[in-house]
Amino acid sequence: MKPSLPRQTECHLIGDIFRPAETFQWVCNVLRYKRTGAGFLRAHPICNALYYKRVFGGVRGGMVLAGVLLAACACGLVTPLAGQPVQAVQDAIVADALADKSGTEFLTRLCDDFGGRLTGSVNNRGALARTVAELKALGITARLEPFTMPGWVRDDDEAEMLVPVKRKLRMASLSYTQPHVRFEADVIDIHDGREADFAGLDAAGKIGLLAPNTTVPRGQYETAAVRHGLRGLLFIDRVGGGQLLARTGSFTGEPLRIPVFAITQEEGTWMARLLKRGEVVRVSMLTRSHCEEIETANIVVTFPGRTADTIVVGAHFDSWDLGQGATDNGLGTAQLFALAKVLQAHAPQNLRTIELVWFNGEEEGLWGSRFHAPALKDRPVAAMLNLDMVGFPLSVNALGYDELVPVLQRFDASLGDRKLKQGVSNINWFGSDQTSFQLEGIPSLTLGGRIEPDVVRYYHDFADTVEKVDPRMIPESAATIAALVYRLANEPGLSTARHSAAETAALFRKYDLENRMKGVGLWPFPDQPPATKPP
Ligand SMILES: [Zn+2]
Repeated sequence: MKPSLPRQTECHLIGDIFRPAETFQWVCNVLRYKRTGAGFLRAHPICNALYYKRVFGGVRGGMVLAGVLLAACACGLVTPLAGQPVQAVQDAIVADALADKSGTEFLTRLCDDFGGRLTGSVNNRGALARTVAELKALGITARLEPFTMPGWVRDDDEAEMLVPVKRKLRMASLSYTQPHVRFEADVIDIHDGREADFAGLDAAGKIGLLAPNTTVPRGQYETAAVRHGLRGLLFIDRVGGGQLLARTGSFTGEPLRIPVFAITQEEGTWMARLLKRGEVVRVSMLTRSHCEEIETANIVVTFPGRTADTIVVGAHFDSWDLGQGATDNGLGTAQLFALAKVLQAHAPQNLRTIELVWFNGEEEGLWGSRFHAPALKDRPVAAMLNLDMVGFPLSVNALGYDELVPVLQRFDASLGDRKLKQGVSNINWFGSDQTSFQLEGIPSLTLGGRIEPDVVRYYHDFADTVEKVDPRMIPESAATIAALVYRLANEPGLSTARHSAAETAALFRKYDLENRMKGVGLWPFPDQPPATKPP
């Protein structure tokens, strides 16, 4: 849905026309925008008039308006209205966010009243309703954006060591593991789960033990296991101390063909030592969890700007269910909440529209953002900022969008004595909700933030609970985030031209991400044609 446009849109359009930086940007956009006529037109604010056809009554109305504006400009009847971030407003935002404990208090209520927020669960639905209600109590209108996705319901699954010791194993199924009756089988060590690891193994009918730090993408080791006739997989956790790592088994949402259970490092390496000595290890597995399509929703809050150009700020709302999802991603959920509150108080209207989105279904495969980002197809989006496990802010990352680096450097300088310790970085990565926006050609950003190792180690597990969150973390991070969002929403000259598919593919290739993205089914681009030899 398009944001409802405020009444004063028209006069600021006039200001936009006269902004030299934007006009220069427009020329650049025209030079690089080759894909669609609509994109070409929208490359300049005056042509945004076409975009406001809902407001001005159709395309013809928009063109008439553009003509009137041009005539008015020619007569010198209008003066430029410069959209600039105002340092005093930014400083007030920072001071207020630093003093505000409500983000931490909101997160504590969310964690303690609902526990983990696995998408589709009763807890997740309750937490969604609570978040909308708490925003409403602040005078902020939030809407649910419903969507359906392949869901997964965890039930009472079991793994038991039968030989050499009878003992129930501590385990958690990977998502999209589907019901299987109890079976028992000998365990074999398949190490990283690569093709070479199966050489010489009699795998048929066995249970595979998968090494903790395998770099084989999810989905691929299951495919290899099925090909070699394995009946199940036990995936050793990479962190010790009896921990488990809840995680997605498949980014496509396809039910797994064999059960895949995360097990503890201690019990996993115990089995590996026995197997190395040639001992028999026998285990039984039973799965009651099941896959089902679920209806869920993102939460969206819109602060309409003086133009339709938009900054999207997103954080995933859902979590795994073993703990409370306090760090992953209760942090982002609460930072967005604090951001909404401070924007409402200090900068409810800016040059650009600000859209805050709490995404659902991220942990199971970025489903909420994969729904939301393509729905922005007809909207001019200048940037997307994703907040996933951002602790005390250290850096802001332009993710390889070089054009954003100077903007972020100006932002960093504007922080004064709160300047980021590591400044501006520019390294692309994938696997959280920003990827969905990047795949739509939208320049995206993330923040680097410190979370202590003895806290971050618990992510996706039982001990990701709210008392681990340093009470200063949300105010400190929300202050920096709010300053950044305020600047992005008011900095003149940000382009809304989309990067082409070829440019986006090149950006992921540049950071060597192609194979890993293909491994999890997140590579929509065609393969590169083989290099042609010169004649
Ligand atoms: Zn996360």
